[in-house]
Amino acid sequence: MNKTGVVALIGSPNVGKSTIFNRIVGKRTSIVDDFPGVTRDRIYANCEWLGVNFSLIDTGGIELDNKPFQESIRMQATIAIEEADVIVFVVDGKIGMNTDDKYVAKLLYKCKKPIILAVNKIDNYDMINDVNEFYALGLGEPIPTSGAHGVGIGDILDKIVKVLPKEVEEEAEDNVYKYSIIGRPNVGKSSLTNTILGDTRVIVSDIEGTTRDAINSRYEKNGRIYEVVDTAGIKKRGQIYESIDKYALLRAMSAIDDSDVALFVIDGQRGLTEQDKHVVSYACEQKKGIVIVVNKWDLVIKDQYTLDNFKKKLREELKFLDYAPIVFVSALKRSRMQSLFDAIDTVFDAYTKRVTTSLLNNVLQDAQAMNEAPDFNGGRCRVYFAQQVGIKPPQIVLFCNNPKWMHFSYLRYIENRIRESFDFDGTPINFVLRKKV
Ligand code: GDP
Ligand code: GDP
Repeated sequence: MNKTGVVALIGSPNVGKSTIFNRIVGKRTSIVDDFPGVTRDRIYANCEWLGVNFSLIDTGGIELDNKPFQESIRMQATIAIEEADVIVFVVDGKIGMNTDDKYVAKLLYKCKKPIILAVNKIDNYDMINDVNEFYALGLGEPIPTSGAHGVGIGDILDKIVKVLPKEVEEEAEDNVYKYSIIGRPNVGKSSLTNTILGDTRVIVSDIEGTTRDAINSRYEKNGRIYEVVDTAGIKKRGQIYESIDKYALLRAMSAIDDSDVALFVIDGQRGLTEQDKHVVSYACEQKKGIVIVVNKWDLVIKDQYTLDNFKKKLREELKFLDYAPIVFVSALKRSRMQSLFDAIDTVFDAYTKRVTTSLLNNVLQDAQAMNEAPDFNGGRCRVYFAQQVGIKPPQIVLFCNNPKWMHFSYLRYIENRIRESFDFDGTPINFVLRKKV
């Protein structure tokens, strides 16, 4: 796993930060598949430029509840300075330098990180001299951009990759089972972490994680070593961030990046919310193993149907997560914790599982014999051969007559047959269609 750099966009409202963000994400870089939830007002994206990977944050998209300008920009700057390796400070070249710009510049002086100054809305060549006054900010050479026309974005990207710290190859520790605990604020993530650590033999705590500010802990259980990527450390940073939903989301994202499996915690009393879906859809997008943990089950008034009904409702609301096991616990009362430990193991096993080619092909042939592919896009897809080529998550290549003829519902059918035959609980399976030559 590589530790990639983080780049943050910062600046006054309306200078064009989100336009530039979308330019960088949309046009010039590769981004992962979109998933429901995260696509809307995206403020975080994994990007690539000239072979260098980095994460981009639009701090302007972090909701700060109509705080006065100075306070909200100060919080933005704090977040950028804390989180990012490189800061892109965007100003409005059409308006010209103003006191707000000077105020932000002053906040940035304190930080030792590279700062790139983008003077935006320089829409045509006649305006090019307008950038010069921004030298006075004392942040180095101003770079003219036009987010609207996509001009100068390449210059910004060149500069970013030049000053970005080199990617560090994380030493893969195959024998450590690394997972994150994600969810909205107050669902009980910290309590759950404490209960888990209380029920196990802790080896080391306070390991500095790849995730900024995360305090990870390692424990041993049944001969395996686990590492919990804990973002609770953020709480120590003062209260300002607590209320900021999108900031919490950002933290969850970097914790997810840093682990193989995510425990997605829901408040059993409150049920599922839209924000819950936002958090977990990123884990899906990153193809992580997932356990759905319904916490605070002690607060729910129950009869013999409650659990099943809750499960059924969750399954309906989280259709894209149908492969993830659901467990019900109370972190506070320490109840049903064994079911959680079992589920974590199940998902890790599935995430790293390898199935033999011969068994896989038996299942595939049976599936096709029982139910032929439909005609689609001018032909009928026939899969000749399947092979698992990777793990974390399992990746299976299907060699077929023509990938274009594969209807997604038929692929889904094949996936379900494979899931029924092998234990892939809790893990996504990555299917790749190849034309057999
Ligand atoms: P943010 O608040 O900093 O994220 O700013 P936005 O990206 O939302 O842009 C604010 C306004 O400026 C929008 O109306 C954009 O269309 C406009 N805008 C953004 N970039 C440019 C540009 O390069 N030139 C001009 N003329 N307008 C721009
Ligand atoms: P986090 O923000 O997700 O880390 O949530 P916390 O672990 O700080 O928990 C938020 C609140 O919920 C605290 O007051 C906890 O005591 C409470 N809480 C956490 N887990 C449970 C639980 O299983 N049952 C009950 N009744 N309360 C819980």
